[in-house]
Amino acid sequence: MDVIIIGGGQAGLAMGYALKQHKISFIILDENSETGKSWEKRYDSLRLFTPRNYSQLHDFTFEGDPNGFPHKGEVVSYLQKFKSVNNLPVIHNQKVIKLSKESNQKFRVITQVQSYTARYVVVATGAFHHPFTPPIHDGSIPFMIHASDYQNPAQIPKGDVLIIGAGNTGVQIAAELSGTHTVTLSKSKSINRIPQRIAGKSLFWWFETLGVSKANPDSLVGKFIQKRDPIIGDDYKTVKKYVEVVSRVEAVKEGIASFQDSPSKKVKSIIWATGYRNNYSWIDIEGVLNDGGKPIHQFGVTNVQGLYFLGLSWQSKRSSALIYGVSDDANAIAEKIMQG
Ligand SMILES: Cc1cc2nc3c(=O)[nH]c(=O)nc-3n(C[C@H](O)[C@H](O)[C@H](O)COP(=O)(O)OP(=O)(O)OC[C@H]3O[C@@H](n4cnc5c(N)ncnc54)[C@H](O)[C@@H]3O)c2cc1C
Repeated sequence: MDVIIIGGGQAGLAMGYALKQHKISFIILDENSETGKSWEKRYDSLRLFTPRNYSQLHDFTFEGDPNGFPHKGEVVSYLQKFKSVNNLPVIHNQKVIKLSKESNQKFRVITQVQSYTARYVVVATGAFHHPFTPPIHDGSIPFMIHASDYQNPAQIPKGDVLIIGAGNTGVQIAAELSGTHTVTLSKSKSINRIPQRIAGKSLFWWFETLGVSKANPDSLVGKFIQKRDPIIGDDYKTVKKYVEVVSRVEAVKEGIASFQDSPSKKVKSIIWATGYRNNYSWIDIEGVLNDGGKPIHQFGVTNVQGLYFLGLSWQSKRSSALIYGVSDDANAIAEKIMQG
């Protein structure tokens, strides 16, 4: 077999499809028992901020109103259908625990149950996989979860809740909880809101038309958006009405949260909406990761012959880690693999 794709989420499936077009043999290894688990695990009310016609892999139609915003469950069904219609060979329950390179230049991929070899490897394990909580608390709060474990308001103890982090996820959860709880939202920088539709067109239509979607990470436009990535949709309007927004949390000690520019607060419950970090500690090949454990790559191509990443944030453009942006990157990597 030529290629092993590690990770069978949307990025792994998009990669498989691209390789199939070139008749390159491959398998996809995924740790979960079925396709779509990353989406299934996310909170109950999750509706995508990308409309259906901007939530498609390659040209595979997402059924339903093209301008409507799908619920996460629809994405699970969509990915499962994409896999079965395109007959993609995903092997489930295969958590990769080691990736190394042998003297014959082949890669060895070891899972918890089996060992494989291949000439090429594409790592597609997801940009939002390992929840990150900053080490600024002493564990004194009775109820504390990361946003990745948030499901619905019934899960959060009654009364006050502090949400730390005001990105799209923090703002969405704050808006939802504002109906049932007294919510405080801590932001580390100013919040810019952008509507989902402008002048009757989807935001993503504008991004495409104005070329924003294609801006690469090092371009002026790319740098600007990375710095000021806006909150998409109406949730911030709800937050402004019903939620107390405070400055950055500096520490949480003995049940008290202290903030950069706001008065300290006694806290009972915290949701950390503080993002994700990658964990590639299982990659045992020199020169792939930098000192911070991040991939060294250009548009997903590493310095190690035959090794690629796919689905990274800003891999080649803003939409690289989104459903509709990953197929272009997958096609580019398939081309590279074709060239040998
Ligand atoms: C809350 C939230 C909302 C989002 N909303 C949108 C949206 O509206 N529109 C949009 O386009 N995008 C959205 N995204 C971004 C993105 O589309 C998703 O994060 C998507 O799940 C990324 O797909 P992926 O295939 O790159 O990674 P994942 O979906 O995480 O898939 C990676 C797969 O690899 C597996 N894996 C990981 N490590 C290993 C290993 N060592 N061995 C074997 N398998 C492994 C994982 O279990 C998983 O099955 C959202 C993300 C989040 C967190």
